[in-house]
Amino acid sequence: MTQAIDSSNALFRLLPAMDSLLKISQVMSFIDRYGKPQVKAQLTRMLTAARSVIAKQGTLPTWCCDEAVLVSELEQSLQNAGRHSLSPVINLSGTVLHTNLGRSQMCESAISAVTDVMRHPVPLEFDMGASKRGHRDSRISELVHELTGAEACCVVNNNAAAVLLMLASVAPGKEVIVSRGELVEIGGAFRIPDIMAQAGCKLVEVGCTNRTHLKDYAVAITENTAAIMKVHTSNYHIAGFTKSVPEAELAGLCRDNGIELISDLGSGALTELSRFGLASEPMPQQMLDDGVDLVSFSGDKLLGGPQAGLVVGKKALIDKLQSHPLKRALRCDKMVLSALEATLLEYRRPEQLDTVMPIFRKLSRPLSELQKLGQRLMLSCEDLQSGLQVTLETCHTQVGSGSQPDVLLESVALCFTPNSDSPQDSLTSLERHFKQQNTPVIGRLGAGKLWLDLRGSDDDTELAAALYACLSSWREARVPSSALESDRQGEVAA
Ligand SMILES: *Cc1c(COP(=O)(O)O)cnc(C)c1O
Repeated sequence: MTQAIDSSNALFRLLPAMDSLLKISQVMSFIDRYGKPQVKAQLTRMLTAARSVIAKQGTLPTWCCDEAVLVSELEQSLQNAGRHSLSPVINLSGTVLHTNLGRSQMCESAISAVTDVMRHPVPLEFDMGASKRGHRDSRISELVHELTGAEACCVVNNNAAAVLLMLASVAPGKEVIVSRGELVEIGGAFRIPDIMAQAGCKLVEVGCTNRTHLKDYAVAITENTAAIMKVHTSNYHIAGFTKSVPEAELAGLCRDNGIELISDLGSGALTELSRFGLASEPMPQQMLDDGVDLVSFSGDKLLGGPQAGLVVGKKALIDKLQSHPLKRALRCDKMVLSALEATLLEYRRPEQLDTVMPIFRKLSRPLSELQKLGQRLMLSCEDLQSGLQVTLETCHTQVGSGSQPDVLLESVALCFTPNSDSPQDSLTSLERHFKQQNTPVIGRLGAGKLWLDLRGSDDDTELAAALYACLSSWREARVPSSALESDRQGEVAA
């Protein structure tokens, strides 16, 4: 016992001192590259880990007496610590617009527009003599007018902010009537009653969960009513014995009573989705035609642009939003506005949207192409699938982000199941392995398999490479290296 303590004391004395570590020439070059505090922090972490190895196992980690190993381990941990948290992943989850994976991927014109405004000063709100720009949303407002016929537009951080600003500007301290069938909760704590309270409005609920009639709205109108609000039930669907009142009918009622009709549309597709085999989403232009005064929607759902919220409609009301003190707190920066401008410009050529916009490229990709891709990937997996079963299955893609909850597109998935003879390899460890690669591959678990929905692929070559890396490292961790070696020799011989 005393002997063990003595020998571990001896090991502790062999641990290098921080000062001497910092004098190693390669460590000094790391200090130039990564900064001294970070290098010291990683060395401290390595020393602490080494102390616990000595205490628990009575051995000294190799790096303590081998400078090359020390340098390589330190560099690895410095690289890991410096990795960007928002580096790219491949989204094969089966949800194209995945809120937790950043929703929209942007078109190339938006990407280059953003890069430019990041690098240079730009006339965001600066009078350049030629045009009389009112404010930073003017250009977007012009484009939205061109595309939807709306008189004007106000742009804020997201659709939640758009709804908040719309309510606070149109109905401060007043009553707003909403159907009980439309008291929506969107993920991330956006709930209509809470937003209403934050905006300083009084929510007046009418009708029932499944049925609301025009007369329900009519009898609820008082001298304190400022607006009726419609909310698109974007993430659920009420079926069966149901009734809701169309915008056109409500518009008449509002006009007769001198109140506003406002609408939280959610996705706000500006292009017809039926061509993908999806049900039509209500579009802002139709709502305005039906007589809605203000419509709000997201920039990064079916529009395919940056995170933003757009309120479009009557100029007199939009002016109220623009001059509300909250607008200053919720306004967008030059990067968002330039990405949004570039995205909207693509809508001038609707026939090109399916090639130019990543979201529509994915939704329009023919099933036959996905099947071919699946077969190619299956073949390339064959040599590598040690401990795994790989199959090609049909599956369904959903649009996501509260768009079209019950409409699914046919697709193809590569499915992986760990072999039952390796019980330590659970499905969750397989999923984690895919997620922890340099290029993480995000799938979905279901029916005892890991599903990779191929409709999510942006670049098939890149996907094949990521899959290869993923499966090779999975196999390396399981097959003894001697077996891999003889395998390779076999290949050479063959
Ligand atoms: C998505 C959605 C929101 C929230 O929009 P964000 O852009 O995520 O803030 C609000 N209302 C409806 C109906 C939605 O679908």
